[in-house]
Amino acid sequence: MKQLLLVFCLTATLTTYSQSFYGRTTGPLPFLNYGLGQDRLGGAKMGYLDSNILVKVVDSVKDTYKLQLSQQHFAYLPKSSFKTDTAIKLQPFYLTNSWRVWGDSAYDYVAVALTEKLPYRAVQQIDPSRIVVDIFGVASNTNWITQLKTVREIKNAWYEQIEDDVLRVFIELKHKQHWGYAIYYRNNNLQIRIKPQPEVLKIKKLKIAIDAGHGGSNSGADGVTTKVLEKEYTLKIAKEVEKYLHKKGADVFMTRTHDTDLTMVERTMMLREQQPDILISIHLNSSGNPATEGVSTYYRYIGFRPLSQKILGRMLQLGLNDYGNVGAFNFSLSGPTEYPNCLVEVAFLSNEEDEKRILDPKFHKEVARKIEKGVEDWLKEVKK
Ligand SMILES: [Zn+2]
Repeated sequence: MKQLLLVFCLTATLTTYSQSFYGRTTGPLPFLNYGLGQDRLGGAKMGYLDSNILVKVVDSVKDTYKLQLSQQHFAYLPKSSFKTDTAIKLQPFYLTNSWRVWGDSAYDYVAVALTEKLPYRAVQQIDPSRIVVDIFGVASNTNWITQLKTVREIKNAWYEQIEDDVLRVFIELKHKQHWGYAIYYRNNNLQIRIKPQPEVLKIKKLKIAIDAGHGGSNSGADGVTTKVLEKEYTLKIAKEVEKYLHKKGADVFMTRTHDTDLTMVERTMMLREQQPDILISIHLNSSGNPATEGVSTYYRYIGFRPLSQKILGRMLQLGLNDYGNVGAFNFSLSGPTEYPNCLVEVAFLSNEEDEKRILDPKFHKEVARKIEKGVEDWLKEVKK
């Protein structure tokens, strides 16, 4: 207890804040934001965290806590994702121990031995394809990285101590295409679970999740002349996509099949459970400017971009205006790193001409075909 008090006093004098305290992440999907920025979909996210991660709070701003991740790094956590933990015993320093790299029938894994659940962040890199994970508040004592031949996707795993208290984990992948990863703790070992590229790159071998946007009390946008609801038409289109993908032999999972309330967290948890190979979200766009029209596709992480480019390429064959391929997009369902995903904003409900198309059942079938063709194009590209 005495020691704990000393640490508290010490850290308080080291920072400019007088009242820092410790606790743990909690709830289903805790996430870190880079700053206090906000937009329609929330501020820019550094990434999701596992629950029960030790964090140090140094300031409070409205409904978020400012966290100190390391000497130089800060982030913001929603207060609803924080719980105080009086049982925390701070260690004078934290070290990484040995690593293990292996695979099973479904995934490859990298396990980094630690003595506490410390915060981390990750990014995808392309050319070469890598997953890069920073672990905060830790120094290396890793002198042993056991790598087993059971891995299918991991080419190499190594680290750099990029700052005195930030360890950077590099995981180099064998394939150009990222198929997704998850980061979590098993006891105090940080595990990075990597999805290997499927051996057969055919649509009939894939499990494809389709998310029809909105539903229930969340009706989304409405049509400029007819006032039709986005939630109804995303579902109609999603059902056509489902039908067409089924015809092509794919295993399809629908987050909803009728008009029902589903939060983003519920959708995300459902998808986490399902472990699809890819996710396609269907929405209809809306703008304050009635002249704005066209189709757009969205991704969050660079490694998942190709799927969204291929789907947009096919969608443009329907004669829709090119509203663009949008990256770093902060949509909840673009956030998961576990599988490549693509949000399709099919057309604008706020534009008269686009609205006419959206109302036409023939158009729904055409959209379904184009999305399927986009996935096929993507698979062909992945094979190269
Ligand atoms: Zn929408």
